[in-house]
Amino acid sequence: MITSSSNKSLAAHKRSTEEYIILSFCAASVLCLLPFCIMRLLSMDWLIAILDIFAVSAMAGLFCYVYLFKQIRIARWLLAALCLFVLFATIYLKGSAQLVWTYPVIVALFFILTPKLGVLFTLILLASLVPVIFRETQLIAGAAFYISAIATTVFSFVFAAKTREQHNQLTALSVSDPLTGVGNRRALDEKLANIINLQERNTMPVCLILLDLDRFKSINDQYGHGVGDKILIQLVQMILQRIRSSDGLFRFGGEEFVIVTENTELTDAANLAEQIRKDIEQTCLLEHNKITVSLGTAQYQQGETGYEWLGRADKAMYQAKEEGRNMSCVA
Ligand code: GH3
Ligand code: MG
Ligand code: MG
Repeated sequence: MITSSSNKSLAAHKRSTEEYIILSFCAASVLCLLPFCIMRLLSMDWLIAILDIFAVSAMAGLFCYVYLFKQIRIARWLLAALCLFVLFATIYLKGSAQLVWTYPVIVALFFILTPKLGVLFTLILLASLVPVIFRETQLIAGAAFYISAIATTVFSFVFAAKTREQHNQLTALSVSDPLTGVGNRRALDEKLANIINLQERNTMPVCLILLDLDRFKSINDQYGHGVGDKILIQLVQMILQRIRSSDGLFRFGGEEFVIVTENTELTDAANLAEQIRKDIEQTCLLEHNKITVSLGTAQYQQGETGYEWLGRADKAMYQAKEEGRNMSCVA
């Protein structure tokens, strides 16, 4: 059954973690640097005042860009380059007393960029500070700076890499169905939202097939839930072998699945649904009992929501049920 909650989740566009990190970093930098701007202007320290004003304006600009356009690909590189430039310029203008700013910049680099790029940028940063450090500070103080900066780099790398790994694992878990391993309802909602977004610019035909096992409750009642689960797993493997790698298979709910076929005309999607129906009918998934499915196919129509699109496929599937099951119908 299609519920209106899927409509809400299809419409929502959430900000990514990376967007939040960049937005928070820019906002925090503007707030931290603003008092320095005012102090430098009041003390008529013009060069560093100009540098601080430039840094505040650039950070505010990046904040607005990411906030409005939700794009971070260019913003993260610009932000990393800006951090390095402002840090270098501050240290070269005001001397080694400003080296303390290196630590927050190192930590920020690991969260703005990937952990590997963070290491690369940090090494470039530390190497380019060599002239100013050994010109202005004693050997022991220079060595202390480098040892503490390298320790910060190692901690930041380990923390950022582990956090990223856990984030990826949790993301994968949150969008996959634990029983069959295919995408779950959330993954389907995201997929449909992406397709509908793309359809505003590119009108390639895209279809979805809703598949529901016939009289599955009685299979469970007769043979037990464990046998029912095994049938669901085998069924998914069969469908995966039949569809193209560019097609998507999702578990929509209990014993209902959705196949999304991009760049496919309605007649081709209907043929695929019919092939899947025959495959399942002809395969012995259970001794002394036939497993069959009913399917509904619908092509995306310009302007409709994912909820409406799924609803049409659902209607076609119910038509197949009403006409006797083990059938495929087209919306
Ligand atoms: P219809 O042909 O009208 O679709 O009949 P049906 O019995 O398949 O439909 P109904 O909605 O009445 O029952 C669906 C059944 O699917 C109920 C439940 O036992 C079974 N089911 C849902 N999720 C799972 C699951 O994860 N594992 C197993 N084994 N069974 C499940
Ligand atoms: Mg059902
Ligand atoms: Mg069913």
